[in-house]
Amino acid sequence: MTMNTGHEIREAIARGEVSAVEATETALAAIAATERRLQAYLQVTPERALARAKEIDAAIARGQDLGLLAGVPVAVKDLFCTQGVRTTAGSKILENFVPPYSATVVRRLEAQGAIIVGKTNMDEFAMGSSCENSAFKATRNPWSTEDVPGGSSGGSAATVGARCVPIALGTDTGGSIREPASFCGVVGVKPTYGRVSRYGIVAFASSLDQAGPMTVDVRDSADALEAIAGFDPMDSTSANVDVPHYAAQLRNDLKGIRVGIVSEFEESIAPDAAMHALYKRAYEDLRALGAELVDVSLPHSKYGLATYYLIAPAEASSNLARYDGARYGLRVDGPDVFSMFDETRAAGFGPEVKRRIILGTYALSSGYYDAYYVRAQKVRTLMKKDFDEAFARCDVIACPAVSCPPFQLGAKSQDPVAMYLMDFFTIPMSLAGVPAMSVPAGYVDDLPVGLQLVAPAFEEGRMFGVAHAYEQATRHAWARTPIVYAGDGHAA
Ligand code: GLN
Repeated sequence: MTMNTGHEIREAIARGEVSAVEATETALAAIAATERRLQAYLQVTPERALARAKEIDAAIARGQDLGLLAGVPVAVKDLFCTQGVRTTAGSKILENFVPPYSATVVRRLEAQGAIIVGKTNMDEFAMGSSCENSAFKATRNPWSTEDVPGGSSGGSAATVGARCVPIALGTDTGGSIREPASFCGVVGVKPTYGRVSRYGIVAFASSLDQAGPMTVDVRDSADALEAIAGFDPMDSTSANVDVPHYAAQLRNDLKGIRVGIVSEFEESIAPDAAMHALYKRAYEDLRALGAELVDVSLPHSKYGLATYYLIAPAEASSNLARYDGARYGLRVDGPDVFSMFDETRAAGFGPEVKRRIILGTYALSSGYYDAYYVRAQKVRTLMKKDFDEAFARCDVIACPAVSCPPFQLGAKSQDPVAMYLMDFFTIPMSLAGVPAMSVPAGYVDDLPVGLQLVAPAFEEGRMFGVAHAYEQATRHAWARTPIVYAGDGHAA
């Protein structure tokens, strides 16, 4: 059997052509065959996966309804708590942490029949854009093993990009699903803030964090989001808004759709001629599908990075205060309790995490709180208004996901600001809380690049509709094959 998309696997299972156990074995073999080169996983969980697959097969044999993801192998970023399975957040401080419960999204995936095959590598506490901030290892890009897969959900992007599994979960605080999706040539979705429960996801910046799918095709993202989305009383910011059947909203043309092109962004991308040409062609492809292109403006987006790097570290400094050696995770003993706190945090956190804690603590400290944190919140409100005004003129926005194709390992690791700049095009949507996704848009220097599509809050279905029409017309994801590749046939 070939490793196809999730919906193809589910359909094959429904027809009795393949079992959940066989689908799981295929994924586990694909992981085993590529992992030495890819380093995408912190842990693979074959026993648990095969036991679960047997249960799914038995349920199907009993005539139970097939879940939305019945028998589909799925990988999850190591930021999601998995009951009884180590969850590290890519950090030494949680190296031996085994959560006593699973994140709501993990439970929802499993309730729909998905088989979780392992926990993927990531930047420590989801802080980074290259996966190089993992305390454990650097994941490679399946298109070029000299290059980074992006981050922070780099392991999830790489394993889907190499076609080991059709679906992986990531999280996105400022770009951590969309940027690695672009770098690895896969679809990556950051839902509306509040759409997906954060319960059981190790917190980075709570007003920004969202979980979402990373998949080979748009249809699988639609199904996976439908599986994980929806109200959860365990997350106070979860929205009580009905979840539609997204697959019913997939389109094959864009007649009557107004697509907003962000004038300021075009100037930002302009210096790189190849990137500029790629995005110009993508907009023309949307027009050829029937869309009307309209100019929109997001005038405050140029303050996005500055705003994000106050709000996200401020929230992180508060969230990460819990890792003190007293409750769970690493403990390094000292002569008294305060030195125990100090020693634990000094040994447990990596340099980027420490940098964020210092930045955030400073921004929240008395005397600076109004000057930095409160002002950043005000700019955030202005950015949200920009999107409201833009969406009065268009149905979706199309813009770059990234400013460059994947870069070499080590190329930016000594320069935090260069690394932060990777999220220039993704941060404004995170601050505004609107849904956004990256969909494969072609290749620059033989490396994949994604187009970002953005919709108003809770209009993920509209975004999927446009992404699907674009994907089916262009088929960039199927035009070439990565060098680390476990699939041998796609019929999406
Ligand atoms: N690269 C950004 C950061 O380092 C975004 C990370 C994320 O979305 N989790 O904060």
